[in-house]
Amino acid sequence: MIFDVLTLFPGMFVSPLQESILGRAIKQKLLQVRTHNLRDWAAGKHLSTDDAPYGGGDGMVMKPEPIARAVAELKLKSPDAKVLLMTPQGIPFKQQHARELAGESGLIFLCGRYEGFDERTRQALVDTEFSIGDFVLTGGELPAMVMIDAISRHLPGVLGSSGSAETDSFVDALLEYPQYTRPAVFNGMSVPDVLLSGDHGKIAKWRREQQLLRTLQRRPELLENVVLSADDAKILERLRKDIESISKVQ
Ligand code: SAM
Repeated sequence: MIFDVLTLFPGMFVSPLQESILGRAIKQKLLQVRTHNLRDWAAGKHLSTDDAPYGGGDGMVMKPEPIARAVAELKLKSPDAKVLLMTPQGIPFKQQHARELAGESGLIFLCGRYEGFDERTRQALVDTEFSIGDFVLTGGELPAMVMIDAISRHLPGVLGSSGSAETDSFVDALLEYPQYTRPAVFNGMSVPDVLLSGDHGKIAKWRREQQLLRTLQRRPELLENVVLSADDAKILERLRKDIESISKVQ
């Protein structure tokens, strides 16, 4: 997988890509992140990549031509790469997108600055516009990094033995179960007995129930779009009743 990132601030990517799991995966050539300074495709005496908005108003807008030239050149090397534009107006980036995008051979990230992109950049050059949340950041570099990190977890070999993307939250549309490590008692709080039992069947059952409970308590809307097994549906019904009766007592 090759990630190409078009940005005015390539230096922002240096440290995050050297550390931990991503740093190791890059060294092992499981993925490649190539950052490109948009300024290299700018023209004119001032090499400007932005200009004032037509119609007036605050701030500057990123010019379409340098981006078009850059994307055309990047596509010569990666003709099948999907072009992704970072914007708070995009579709909300979800785990399911991370999994799907990991199947692509290449991705080109367009990182905005200032007031964002000229509308024609979106229309002519972009496959998908993504938002990482309902808030506005100063630039698209952090969103691109967030997406690269989440996508990389699904590439073969990247997590190695240090974890599995398959048990993460959202993988089956549910949140992950609570995790514990040593010590068995911390500040008077004990690890649930079942996790110390060594009975893997019981542990799996407890974890599934905890996943359903945690999702019900924290993100009930996720349960609206999930197809549950008959067993899961029964557990969920019981958990709902338990929660109802507790709230009545209170
Ligand atoms: N004026 C734009 C708007 O209201 O849609 C916001 C521009 S923002 C200050 C500058 C750049 O940061 C955007 O072009 C985009 O690349 C990036 N950005 C900011 N927030 C983002 C978010 N939540 N998700 C993805 N990209 C974001």
